[in-house]
Amino acid sequence: MIEYRNLRIAILGGGSVGAQVASLLLEHGDELASRAGAGLELIGVAVRDLDAKRTPPLPRELLTTDPASLILGADIVIELMGGIEPARTLLLDAINSGADIITANKALLATHGPELFDAAEQVGAQLYYEAAVGGAIPIIRPLRDSLAGDRVKRILGIVNGTTNYILDLMEREGASLEDALAKATELGYAEADPTADIEGYDAAQKVSILASLAFHTNVPLEAVHREGITAVTMEQVESARKAGFVVKLLAICERLTDAETGEDGVSARVYPALIPVTHPLAAVHGANNAVFIEAEAAGDLMFYGAGAGGLQTASAVLGDLVSAARRHVIGGPGVAESNHANLPVLPISSITTRYQITLKVADRPGVLAAIASLFSEHGVSVEALTQSAGLGAIDPDATATLVIGTHEATEHALAATVAALKSSEVVRAVVSVLRVEGL
Ligand code: NAP
Repeated sequence: MIEYRNLRIAILGGGSVGAQVASLLLEHGDELASRAGAGLELIGVAVRDLDAKRTPPLPRELLTTDPASLILGADIVIELMGGIEPARTLLLDAINSGADIITANKALLATHGPELFDAAEQVGAQLYYEAAVGGAIPIIRPLRDSLAGDRVKRILGIVNGTTNYILDLMEREGASLEDALAKATELGYAEADPTADIEGYDAAQKVSILASLAFHTNVPLEAVHREGITAVTMEQVESARKAGFVVKLLAICERLTDAETGEDGVSARVYPALIPVTHPLAAVHGANNAVFIEAEAAGDLMFYGAGAGGLQTASAVLGDLVSAARRHVIGGPGVAESNHANLPVLPISSITTRYQITLKVADRPGVLAAIASLFSEHGVSVEALTQSAGLGAIDPDATATLVIGTHEATEHALAATVAALKSSEVVRAVVSVLRVEGL
């Protein structure tokens, strides 16, 4: 029987993820110890309410309402309480008292990541956060370690399961956004207050973490352009399908050169966009997540799986625990944050992409030519145009629907085109403007 050095593990939070991590640690402690090369002794789980029901149940004697005292005796602190405070202060205290830390807290990392990384680096502590993006999906370690020798060009991610579930239901069952959201709430995919998901805040936090890691640059949350799914309509989803696309809430980050200024930098953004049905991300259904990486040498890679769930997320946390424990035993500094590239984060106006624009127009001869010349005046080239009715009707009040796909254009040129369309006498309404990605 191998005698391992014992490491003391404290868990902050005994909720969906924390209770699963604690339970698996108690159940599989010996096996995890063999993998880590250290005994893993769970010394306590900090919670708010000692009497709350926990799934799975935890031994009462492990629970405490005093997280500050708990961390003082720990070698490794696992933070699964969520929110900014007291999680931030507790993790800083844990680092300063000599512990390594693991967290699944994307909100904290996206807002105070540099502070935590700096504090960890000062004392040589480790900070692991595999579960903060994509739940069970290994994505932090592949970006940090496996792709460390490559250059990531672009990441397209479906990183919010709630919105993917909603858009998927709209696409597959013709549900309205409201009905799909109600179903997501009923199934427990959406919170009672779904704002963080449907307005894209959750995805923005995750893309800030992914972009910082992929491009070795601090990408603060405030620099992420964010649009949610609340304006997505059934008409958009249907017209996307007819044109061979699906609507997905995409978290995108990429290296790019501003088309107008020539400045090199990175862009990080979240918005609903069309992707071709043939793109691997189009096959991500339900509440699943996927991250599609385009790297210079590796080419295209996709990481797919459960983006949330207590048990699934616990898998990623325990993976971090084994890594942290192994390194704790061997010694040496933790993996420092890499921000040597320090690229500027460019605004949304710097990006170039394709667009699909749906218009209601007067149904009479000459309208197509008028619309086409508006696009060309603003330097936006039309790639495809479909119309719902023959433009040439006798009735002067008749309306036709035009769906126009563009070649690549800048946000700036597109915005000018849309403004011109809105004030054009032949356009009755600009029904929708969606970006097209993944071509
Ligand atoms: P949760 O179910 O709400 O659990 C939070 C836990 O923290 C509860 O046990 C709560 O105690 C405890 N807690 C909160 N504030 C506390 C305080 N001030 N002092 C002591 N204990 C406190 O949250 P969760 O879903 O497990 O999520 C935990 C973290 O994992 C979050 O950062 C989340 O973003 C991240 N994450 C979650 C998932 C997921 O699928 N759930 C996926 C990926 C990442 P009580 O139980 O007594 O209230």
